[in-house]
Amino acid sequence: MPLRPDTSLQYLKGVGPKLGELLARKGLRTIQDLLEFYPRTYEDRRAARNIASLQADESVSLKAQVIKVSSISMGRSSRKMYDVTLQDASGRIHCKFFRVPYKGYFERFRPLQEIRVVGKVTDYRGRLEFHHPDLRDVEADEELQDKLVPIYVEIDGISSAKLWRMIQAAYADLEGAPTEVFPESFLKKYQLIPKFEAVKQLHFPDNTQSQQLLEMKTLAHRRLIFEEFFWLEYQLAGRKSTVQKNFTKALPKGAAKVRQLQDSLPFQLTGAQQKVFAEIAADLQKNIPMLRLVQGDVGSGKTLVAFMAALLAIENQSQVVLMAPTEILAEQHFKNAQKWLVPLGCRLAMLTGKSKASERRSLLEDLASGKIDFLIGTHALIEDPVIFKQLSLVIVDEQHRFGVEQRAALQAKGQHPHTLVMTATPIPRTLALTVYGDLDVSTINEMPAGRSPIQTRVAYESKRGQVLKFLSEQIEKGRQAYVVYPLVSESEKMDLKDALTAFESLKEHFPNYSVGLLHGQMKSQEKDEVMDLFRKNKIQILVSTTVIEVGVDVPNANMMIIEHSERFGLSQLHQLRGRVGRGEHKSFCILMLGYAVSDEARQRVEMMERSTDGFAIAEFDLQLRGPGEFLGTRQSGLAGFKLASLVRDQDLLQLAREAAFSHEGQFDQYKKDLLL
Ligand code: ADP
Ligand code: MG
Repeated sequence: MPLRPDTSLQYLKGVGPKLGELLARKGLRTIQDLLEFYPRTYEDRRAARNIASLQADESVSLKAQVIKVSSISMGRSSRKMYDVTLQDASGRIHCKFFRVPYKGYFERFRPLQEIRVVGKVTDYRGRLEFHHPDLRDVEADEELQDKLVPIYVEIDGISSAKLWRMIQAAYADLEGAPTEVFPESFLKKYQLIPKFEAVKQLHFPDNTQSQQLLEMKTLAHRRLIFEEFFWLEYQLAGRKSTVQKNFTKALPKGAAKVRQLQDSLPFQLTGAQQKVFAEIAADLQKNIPMLRLVQGDVGSGKTLVAFMAALLAIENQSQVVLMAPTEILAEQHFKNAQKWLVPLGCRLAMLTGKSKASERRSLLEDLASGKIDFLIGTHALIEDPVIFKQLSLVIVDEQHRFGVEQRAALQAKGQHPHTLVMTATPIPRTLALTVYGDLDVSTINEMPAGRSPIQTRVAYESKRGQVLKFLSEQIEKGRQAYVVYPLVSESEKMDLKDALTAFESLKEHFPNYSVGLLHGQMKSQEKDEVMDLFRKNKIQILVSTTVIEVGVDVPNANMMIIEHSERFGLSQLHQLRGRVGRGEHKSFCILMLGYAVSDEARQRVEMMERSTDGFAIAEFDLQLRGPGEFLGTRQSGLAGFKLASLVRDQDLLQLAREAAFSHEGQFDQYKKDLLL
């Protein structure tokens, strides 16, 4: 029977209703679904390889014998590092698997058993190893000796070999090709091969292209990865254009006032601040709503740039709102605005959960009648019935703390206002293009002059005595310190106990000083009180969980000790570290490591000693952990890729983004819903 792309899989030879149902449950319903079930990798069975011949960074497949399987616990986590040692007549090699959450899988390999290992050879400190290779029983079908064999993810016991046979059967009876959505001129412009050809090449690879295949760099891969990125970016382009189809008030006046502000400052703007402000000012000249993200490392001076933008809006008889994630931050912004903007005649107000009912009433009246130019607050801004007379600029600080809906709720208070969002979580460019893909991105990539870099050291538990001694010295010099504990949600109680124990023992250790405690389960008023005491140097050592991550400026605090640093993401460590190094004193960050920490975790944390560049750290973190974990959540859209990798395929992402934005609206009939 001839098969069409949309024919149900159960009509494929050798499938039938039962197997068909099983496949359907896994999302494979039609012939086309099966054809688009791409090989995960390839096995090169053409050259018989032995262990002694391996070289770093090559991807290989070889047969070897198991010598032993061992495991090492990693900290208190239930995950383990597994080491499967293999040998053949020529030598031995270790296969390492880090952070393995489940038991039993590797134990099934028995000494002397022959297995096939497929993976990339890694040079680890001068020794060759496999990290996370595929290990599998030597299959009965080793007749495929001299071929590149596609390897599929097994589906409920359906082996890779069987899946390949099904795909071969499908092609044998296939009539018609899956729809090609891109016109020829488009394919030509972006140098893409037709989809049908690309898909077929993945299942029946060209034997001369083993290296490109293993690296997912063939023309076939290129075409299909491009398309995966394209649909995501196409949707983002649509979102952006929906917003920017609207008109808003242009804000052309105010350059003189901004100059006046700059002249009043005790410092010069950095070149990066000037560049980013120029980008914002250019957007605000237009009557198209601005959608711009400003990213810059902690302390790079984003607030000032935002205030200059606010000044432009105010000079054009418009109102501005700024939303911050915490009361502490809102107050800090308010104080700065009082210092910088009030002398220029701006009328300010602040609205937080703490604002009293009577103040609130008159504030809301003044806002509605246009007597307030600039309103600063927390999410109380979107919870209260806040009405503006003429809101033209919305500023959201620490954007990653808010959801898209919260941003939208604030924007809805104006007539398609200009929007500026700020984040101190540096996101590698590639991720910014997807996560914030509907925003234009400006980057403040330069720090104000005169900041002395924070000295960072990794210290093992065995060095705790020395760390405490160093802490005493700093406190005796009149400085203050943070001691930070991780809070991992699954075992929150246990973690909090750690912080409490440390709090008690530090109190004992420093009887002449005051030790404070700050954690997420305290009421916000209690938190504010503790923070206030710390700011006033009534507390010298502050033991805290990560609630201080987005926190205050305490220039006198020059030391931070981070406990169990291996449990934090690198970007988070960088954020935390940014709490020190804000004053004239030399600052220190000590990253404590537990006893049983894997090599991988140690290497990761050691990156912090080498770099104080948030973007470099974020890029490294992304490479190590992948986008899902890096962002802390399963970000919409990113999970849908079958072949594409944000780390490996950055160039293609850029190309697909350009293509998508320049063809916005032209492929709507094929659009796929990838975003939440
Ligand atoms: P962030 O980008 O982390 O939000 P802030 O805007 O809070 O950083 O700025 C950090 C500190 O640096 C503030 O005290 C601010 O007044 C100061 N600052 C901003 N720009 C400059 C500059 N060009 N030179 C010196 N100090 C600056
Ligand atoms: Mg800030």
